Amino acid sequence: MTDCLFCKIAAGDIPSNKVYEDENFFAFHDIHPKSPIHVLVIPKLHLQSLADATEQDTALLGLMMDRVRHIADAELKLGVGYRVVINVREGGGQEVDHIHVHILGGKKLPF
Ligand code: 5GP
Ligand code: ZN
Repeated sequence: MTDCLFCKIAAGDIPSNKVYEDENFFAFHDIHPKSPIHVLVIPKLHLQSLADATEQDTALLGLMMDRVRHIADAELKLGVGYRVVINVREGGGQEVDHIHVHILGGKKLPF
């Protein structure tokens, strides 16, 4: 999608503080961190939200969670633990309409 902020970040057209990249996924530090470590993981493929995923996206969603695990463990060294959040649509607090997983950590997180 040409008009999507996260598509532009994944393509390198808008700069970001990159943590990880492979053929299908891109991860970068959130510009307004809500915890000492706050990273966003996105698929390079534009998918608006979790609510817009179909059965055809099952493999992508599974792979994305595997990459979240890898990034939290190997890249961010969050072996002590972390939180994974997906905000879904406006009512769920989603502000950027390109599916993304928040990885939050670096302190004990209240719930
Ligand atoms: P949402 O509320 O949609 O689940 O989360 C969007 C996140 O993207 C927010 O935490 C916000 O701080 C982050 N964000 C918005 N614009 C940018 C940007 O241009 N660069 C980066 N790195 N993060 C952004
Ligand atoms: Zn997009």
